[in-house]
Amino acid sequence: MLFGRNKKNPIKIADKGIVEWKYTTCGYCSTGCSIEVGINDKGEAVSSRGVGGADVNRGKLCIKGIFEHELFKTEGRGDKPLVRNSIIDEYKPTGWDSALDTMAEKIKGIQEKYGRDAFAVVSTGQLLTEEFYTLGKLTRGAIGTNNYDGNTTLCMASAVSGYKRSFGSDGPPGCYEDFEHTDCLIAFGSNLPEQHPIIYWRLKEAMEKRKFPLIVVDPRVTMLAQFADMHLAITPGTDVVLLNSLAHVILNEGLEDRSYIEANTNGFEEFEALVSEYDPISASKICGIDEDTIRTVARLYAKSGQAMSIWTMGINQSTHGSDGVVGINNLNLITGNIGKAGGTSLSITGQSNAMGTREWSSCSGLPGYRALENADHRKEVADFWGIDAEFLPKQRGMFQTDIFPAIETGQIKGMWLVATNPMTSMPNTARIRKTLEKLDFLVVQDAYSDVETTQYAHMYLPAAIWAEKEGCFTNTERRVNRVTNVSLPFGESKSDLWIFNQLSKRFENGLKMNFPDTAEGAFEEMKALSKGQGRNLDISGMSYEKIEKNHGLQWPCREGDEKGQQRLYTDGKFPYADGKAKIIPLPFVDNNEKPSSDYPFWLNSGRVVEHFHTRTRTGKIGNQNKFSPTPYMEMNPDAAAELGIEHQTYVRAVSKRGDAVVMVQLTQRIPRDMVFIPFHFHDCVNRLTLGLLDPHSRQPAFKQNAVRIEKVDQKEAAQRNVEAREY
Ligand code: SF4
Repeated sequence: MLFGRNKKNPIKIADKGIVEWKYTTCGYCSTGCSIEVGINDKGEAVSSRGVGGADVNRGKLCIKGIFEHELFKTEGRGDKPLVRNSIIDEYKPTGWDSALDTMAEKIKGIQEKYGRDAFAVVSTGQLLTEEFYTLGKLTRGAIGTNNYDGNTTLCMASAVSGYKRSFGSDGPPGCYEDFEHTDCLIAFGSNLPEQHPIIYWRLKEAMEKRKFPLIVVDPRVTMLAQFADMHLAITPGTDVVLLNSLAHVILNEGLEDRSYIEANTNGFEEFEALVSEYDPISASKICGIDEDTIRTVARLYAKSGQAMSIWTMGINQSTHGSDGVVGINNLNLITGNIGKAGGTSLSITGQSNAMGTREWSSCSGLPGYRALENADHRKEVADFWGIDAEFLPKQRGMFQTDIFPAIETGQIKGMWLVATNPMTSMPNTARIRKTLEKLDFLVVQDAYSDVETTQYAHMYLPAAIWAEKEGCFTNTERRVNRVTNVSLPFGESKSDLWIFNQLSKRFENGLKMNFPDTAEGAFEEMKALSKGQGRNLDISGMSYEKIEKNHGLQWPCREGDEKGQQRLYTDGKFPYADGKAKIIPLPFVDNNEKPSSDYPFWLNSGRVVEHFHTRTRTGKIGNQNKFSPTPYMEMNPDAAAELGIEHQTYVRAVSKRGDAVVMVQLTQRIPRDMVFIPFHFHDCVNRLTLGLLDPHSRQPAFKQNAVRIEKVDQKEAAQRNVEAREY
């Protein structure tokens, strides 16, 4: 009986006239959900659904995936290439040949006048892996600039750096199935329900089947913290202190795995000496977690049969991001929790193909995790591409976060931005605006012509989006999955692969090299480059057909392998020359911007479930945008009462860099001395951020800044809010 009715009304699902479901992989976050897009008899994408047989999402999608088919018809898509001489002129449409001729001429002109490295290329984590590989080939092998990086420096660079320092190579060693085997899980700065909802669902399901403790380390009472057994509300930027102190307790109480340490690691003695200084009483005064909690967590973790750690931007986006990752790896190495089912260090990656760019884009080196610093690697790749090895630089160039300051100092004169939007995503956007205005030539290549950075460009190239293209993504757990062209490219937009291939023909080396016309052709080159020599990143056993049939395959998947390997380092052998992992001592240096009497609040930033990155896509999808349409700021009610600020009124947040007007959301989720603003909105939180850089990864500290909060005229703020909300 349903509230007095004895007959249920049948559920009716609107018939959208779907005649075919096409397989692809979600193009937002790195979870890597398999998705089918429903096509009607006019060839239009009208629905999306999760793929039941796919191991990652088992039929489920989050709100972004559910509405993803609407992307094909969103506002603001670029139709034709646009050019102008100066950024104060109006853009004029042009043809592809003319645009690419001009682009090649401008690049060569800058390089002839100022040197090859004076032209920079900054890409993304959103392209298909075959496109990353091709962009790397074009940039390293034909254009020949060394100042080439991705916006993944804002996101996963600390994880990459930390994995390399600890294990000798990048590559997350674990997988989602580890949730089903672990006895204890610590989530550091990772709010899965909002950032990676389907990974959260996998975790939740595993916890319901086999109860194990979930410990969340985060300054805010995030959604994940609300579901946790223990919440450690850490002082921002002090994760290394907590990690050293956990290790202190483990070693002090003899809970470490001595046999694993002796057989598989180096550096333990130096580490032991360093962590002896981080007793829980002293550590608690810095990291804000009481001494008993530190001891309890250390014992719980070390005494579990298998324990795992996950993390996201709470660790990575810090001046200690790389050290934080190494600290997590240290914890797992001393407890023997690497390469075990349920015992691992698993970075939860950001963008849909942040892994693909790490593996194949050549941003930080050469394809397939090869290093520019290694002469054998340079020769191997140059021979494969058919160019002189001397053409390749002998060490990596600038990171993205160093490229922008180099524009200020005149080292960089031209830039090509591919699917990235620094005018919203970089810290201190006022400074970014001034640097972009200094460029002699800026090209923005993006699916959307209204992306904010086009205001500062001389050329705009319209790219096809996600499933208007063909290729692969790699997800958080090293699973390569297929993206298929569900729909034709919008207007005269072209796939990024086509754009890279056409540009290559306009460079001397490009004419010597083979640039396959199809994504599958590029994939076959990548397979050949990945094969053999005990390489973990081996995809030679994969094919497009096999990937799609299995709904994704994890690497390594060697020639002849039926399936890929779920975990790395199961044999305790690491990619360092001696086969051992490094346990690295991490002295803590307190170097963040911190609250003061003038700026009394910590400013924290992060993601909300409805939006992705700079809202270029999600801001245009009505069913998503309506849940989170306006920039807001979480504030503690007690702190607000002291300042006379009320719920849902506008305020101005002010830092030493600038200000942003936001609507206040009062909530006990946030501590009294902190405010939180989502990072998705243009001219908002990144007007305030400082973004000091991690010394190893060059990733900015987006989450450790100081602000004050001021009252504003409500009518004026409301008017500005309406004007700012064009989408
Ligand atoms: S969890 Fe990530 S990959 Fe899965 S549907 Fe949502 S946005 Fe897409």
